[in-house]
Amino acid sequence: MGKIHELAPNLADQIAAGEVVERPASVVKELVENAIDAHATTIDIVVEEAGLKSIQVMDNGDGIPADEVKLAFKRHATSKISAREDLFKVQTLGFRGEALPSIASIADVQLTTATADQPGTAIHLKGGTVLEFGVSASRPGTTITVTELFYNTPARLKYLGSLATELAAVSDIVNRLALGHPEIAFSLTNNGHQLLQTAGNGNLQQVIGAIYGVQSARQMLAITGEDHDFKVTGFVSLPKLTRAARKYISLLINGRYIKNFQLTKALIKGYGSKLMIGRYPIAVLNIELNPLLVDVNVHPTKQEVRISKEEQLTHLIETTIANRLTTENLIPDALENL
Ligand code: ADP
Ligand code: MG
Repeated sequence: MGKIHELAPNLADQIAAGEVVERPASVVKELVENAIDAHATTIDIVVEEAGLKSIQVMDNGDGIPADEVKLAFKRHATSKISAREDLFKVQTLGFRGEALPSIASIADVQLTTATADQPGTAIHLKGGTVLEFGVSASRPGTTITVTELFYNTPARLKYLGSLATELAAVSDIVNRLALGHPEIAFSLTNNGHQLLQTAGNGNLQQVIGAIYGVQSARQMLAITGEDHDFKVTGFVSLPKLTRAARKYISLLINGRYIKNFQLTKALIKGYGSKLMIGRYPIAVLNIELNPLLVDVNVHPTKQEVRISKEEQLTHLIETTIANRLTTENLIPDALENL
């Protein structure tokens, strides 16, 4: 017999999980992104012990048809793209079909789901194996509960931070997803304590208030700028409202939270000399562009993307902010209903 053989699917999933699921916050990110892709208008996230004990994400989205539930846990199975061309114009947050099988391969997963016109389904998997599957009473939408994360990958478990660190990571990712989707009502609870609640009424400034405090939200300026290829909207803080780290800057491309050093730098440059050294603004920038101009298939977690015409975009960001911050314009936007 030769030395080369194909890995069993479970093992392959577990290897993929190593890239996609670094910590509890990665599970939260993948599950919430799935809920957003399923057009949910309400997403409730309940974690215990920062997600190490359990992570539950409940949505009122489209649900999964009964005969596709098992398929959803197969690697590279997705409802979001089908042809090669689709890969270059991805409109959804997911498309790789990796999250559910990855998570199920390294945890215990219970999912109940129902579409609007079919009875619900329940499935229970552990370590990638289906333990139970059947019909279940369920309102339209999907609820997924993940426990015993990393139970069969002890090395990964060892590398996790303290509970406080892991909770901060969970909170951070939920905050950014909420900032990207003011039209969705989010709630996040850890050990029964509510950490975030947004109204889902589309008001971004209110979401900023829910996350960074109403006082901060009152010192934000709405920005908008546009050129032939890009549209930039959002809020930036008055130069006097700053933080000691860049992490209060959120960048979203077509609703996807991304990290990008050049774009962050452009935003800061827009403040010119108005910021003190070592101080950074609070900001949320929504960048809208033709999906053809961005390659999201750079990294499994999709937080790094490649943008065509990046220099043109950095110029737009810098000038939009610089114009908004000229002295005569420094009047914050009124914060309604807060
Ligand atoms: P991807 O998001 O890349 O398609 P996933 O493994 O995250 O891959 O999910 C697989 C499929 O399961 C999705 O394409 C979608 O059809 C379905 N799915 C997952 N989560 C949900 C959800 N919360 N609501 C509706 N469908 C879902
Ligand atoms: Mg997904």
